[in-house]
Amino acid sequence: MRHINNPPNPYLKYSAEFLGEPPPTKLEIFEETATRSVITKSNMPEMGIRYTVNCYRGCIHACTYCFARRYHEFLGYGAGTDFETKIVAKINAPQILREELKRTKEKISRLEFSFATDPYLPLEANYELTRKCLMVCKDFRMPVGVITKSPLVIRDLDILTKLDTTVFFSIPFPTVEKSKPFEPFTPIPEIRFKAMKTLSDAGIKVGIGIAPIIIGYNDSDIPVLLEKAREAGATKAFINLIHFDSDSIADYFVERLKEKLPTKADKILNALKRERGGNLRHRNFAERRGKTEQWQTAVKLFDLHFKRLGFERFGTTEKIEEKPPPFQPNLFN
Ligand code: SF4
Repeated sequence: MRHINNPPNPYLKYSAEFLGEPPPTKLEIFEETATRSVITKSNMPEMGIRYTVNCYRGCIHACTYCFARRYHEFLGYGAGTDFETKIVAKINAPQILREELKRTKEKISRLEFSFATDPYLPLEANYELTRKCLMVCKDFRMPVGVITKSPLVIRDLDILTKLDTTVFFSIPFPTVEKSKPFEPFTPIPEIRFKAMKTLSDAGIKVGIGIAPIIIGYNDSDIPVLLEKAREAGATKAFINLIHFDSDSIADYFVERLKEKLPTKADKILNALKRERGGNLRHRNFAERRGKTEQWQTAVKLFDLHFKRLGFERFGTTEKIEEKPPPFQPNLFN
């Protein structure tokens, strides 16, 4: 059983402290109607992403490293268990997307389904918001990218095969044992590779995101992950170094790490700090780049096996721009 655990929200003047053991968490679903826009301009320049659609806020998959936790704080929630259990569904996202594309299609060359949540949360099985948005994209002939950790994406094969699309599976760890401490409620890696193969066999372009790389923990897994992805039909791949752009996310990550991997935590944290001049969190995009020889070795390892296996280049951390467009959280529409 999980108990409520959130770092103080820097946007609030107060924070709750429990006397004794905090109460258990419970899943809460909120429905929201957007009025103007569901397309967000994002700040992931290393991946070339600019326009994203997120039909949900929060993510049940609960990856401890997830940078999207911060966006829950903008809503007045916490970046810890609140992010994992207070999920918002934008129930009119498909209708708003259709209206928005009528106005803006000419300015947008591609939409990405990801960034602030997984587009295939378990909830999507019922709400079908991502599916309906993909149908809108089909009507507008809008190219799309999908990044997910869920095999639920297979349900939408019928639409994806009619779109110009690439589906990336985020698989940073090759085994359940390595994944669980950081990805407590995601589908296991083998299931993700299996889903990748199913899509590839159906003629959909697929890729692997080996992200995040946690130096000293999964950098040595790069070759095996690339090999498994290639066997499952992937032609594209990228890596990213783990990064924290807020103290609350870093604090939550550290707490979970010490709880799940007590004997390895200090080694992992020291390696992370070395990448950022002694700090865990980065202050700007330039600081997101790894600084150490270990990171450079990881990049070389990736490049070596990427070429050996015949992947197509998509983007790496080395391509980060110094001044990307600011993130617009799109909270009030
Ligand atoms: S699946 Fe993606 S959005 Fe969800 S918690 Fe993990 S990293 Fe964050």
